Amino acid sequence: MLQGARHVHIAALQRAADECDIEIEVHELRKASDLAAADPHAIVLPGGESTTMRLTGNHDTSRLLPALFEWIRSDSSRPVLGTCAGAILLADPRDGGDPLVDADIDRNAYGRQADSFQSTLEATILGRDFPGVFIRAPRFESHSESATVAAMHGEEVVGVRTGNRLALTFHPELSSDTGFHRWLLETAAGAGS
Ligand code: GLN
Repeated sequence: MLQGARHVHIAALQRAADECDIEIEVHELRKASDLAAADPHAIVLPGGESTTMRLTGNHDTSRLLPALFEWIRSDSSRPVLGTCAGAILLADPRDGGDPLVDADIDRNAYGRQADSFQSTLEATILGRDFPGVFIRAPRFESHSESATVAAMHGEEVVGVRTGNRLALTFHPELSSDTGFHRWLLETAAGAGS
């Protein structure tokens, strides 16, 4: 809840939970202590502005980002969905540790806000097409073999997965298709955590 498209993600999670009949409790994380108290089974890193998220999340009054990165790093099977700015944080945590998904990412690589666009993409991880909403989106420059391709837009990789960490350069929460949120909930349920 540091910044960005948080409430839309919560709504998408609730819709996904109804659709796949999994009961969920959403915890809003602002500080490191919120993470410890919530003891979550899955995490969403929303889109927004990664620069602002880094500033607020590393600030002494929050320290959420270091706590989140530690939580994510400690077990690659922990389900994480990072969208747009959230994908940037996963690929480029800038905390001196390894990236959380094995890909290089370039911020604002399509251009300015006016170059935002919508386009159908291929959600390989879901096995079907998906409505892609790209808002001042980043681009994956490369990904290593340990990262699985999760989504393609034409010839371009727009989603990568390392373990159960999924990084998408678009905004699935802004479409009516809850496929990626269902993936997160079903992965968490399947992990039995
Ligand atoms: N441009 C933003 C950034 O660099 C990402 C955009 C988004 O999350 N929609 O963090």
